[in-house]
Amino acid sequence: MTQSSLISAPSPRRNTRLVRIGQVAVGAGAPVVVQSMTNTDTADILGTAMQVAELARAGSEMVRITVNNEEAARAVPHIRDRLLALNMDVPLVGDFHYNGHTLLSKYPACAEALAKLRINPGNVGAGSKRDPQFAAIVEIACKYDKPVRIGVNWGSLDQSVLARIMDENATRAEPRDAGAVMREALVVSALESAAKAEEYGLAGDRIILSAKVSSVQDLIAVYRDMAVRCDYPLHLGLTEAGMGSKGIVGSTAALAVLLQEGIGDTIRISLTPEPGGSRTQEVVVAQEILQTMGLRAFTPMVTACPGCGRTTSTFFQELASGIQNYVREQMPTWRDQYDGVENMTLAVMGCVVNGPGESKHANIGISLPGTGETPAAPVFVDGQKTVTLRGDNIAAEFKAIVDDYVSTRYTRKAG
Ligand code: SF4
Repeated sequence: MTQSSLISAPSPRRNTRLVRIGQVAVGAGAPVVVQSMTNTDTADILGTAMQVAELARAGSEMVRITVNNEEAARAVPHIRDRLLALNMDVPLVGDFHYNGHTLLSKYPACAEALAKLRINPGNVGAGSKRDPQFAAIVEIACKYDKPVRIGVNWGSLDQSVLARIMDENATRAEPRDAGAVMREALVVSALESAAKAEEYGLAGDRIILSAKVSSVQDLIAVYRDMAVRCDYPLHLGLTEAGMGSKGIVGSTAALAVLLQEGIGDTIRISLTPEPGGSRTQEVVVAQEILQTMGLRAFTPMVTACPGCGRTTSTFFQELASGIQNYVREQMPTWRDQYDGVENMTLAVMGCVVNGPGESKHANIGISLPGTGETPAAPVFVDGQKTVTLRGDNIAAEFKAIVDDYVSTRYTRKAG
């Protein structure tokens, strides 16, 4: 048996309903959509519009903003207008908790400006207020023809649903453990809320579900279960994933398993930015998960070896990181000008051991000299050695080769 025959290709996309959010298609086999969320005060119109624009430029295909008070609700149409003035028609998703029914009724322009509403059934209202407040939001969604994401979160799980599932569990001959009860309550809360929304008049193809938890294994179990119990598109994300490598690894581990099984129609990576770090990191990670899994292509990928005792200078790391940053910066322009450039592959390798071989597998590869090797860096284009770079200008000359490749190998878009 060969190595490749042991590895299954991603399952076909699950056959969910198609939900249209502005110009973006979600579900029914459409490409998995990348989402993000701002962390600005939504009442700060300029600051929020600028961050939405930054996230959209990085590749976020929908951006969620919190709508937590009257100032925020009043700001939403102005944020949308500022984005349109920048020629950015990215769908805005309003995130509502506790007072969504009041804000949406009092500020219809807010409802109108949003492309989708996100409501959390655990935070819609307690006791007898829950259903009428939920119904009020659904009514507004119907009136303005807005899709709704019913987003359950284990940190704010509807306690009445949890209590009911716990009671039912207690009557079972073999009661399930606490984790299984919690997972069942999450799924039931999402499914029952969707059924209620349809009962209140929202069409089935205007509903997206999510049920987020912060444990990888629980997230996988919850979504596998939800995927067999409904055909609404599913939004995936590991909630409160955390900072840096912990957040990236946890999100990737969970989402990769589900995406490989054809589960998930939109994704968001809930990273806590490092102090002063860019919010766009969550977009980059989401894109890289989809691209490294072969599900979508966004930006040319740079393969680089890790370096070792054969690469004793920092030049190799500087070139690899410089090229990765360069293609990411160029991508918005290249994407507008050339078809298929996102599929280009690059390799930056540290020495002769794997350098030429790996470079030949890429569209463009460079094999730098390791310690003790002749100071020469052969460049390979589509598997053929084309030139050997030497001296102090290797980085600039390699970028020029990349630019030339893009302009000569990819078809220029019309207009
Ligand atoms: S290609 Fe060379 S420098 Fe890079 S990890 Fe392998 S042996 Fe080390």
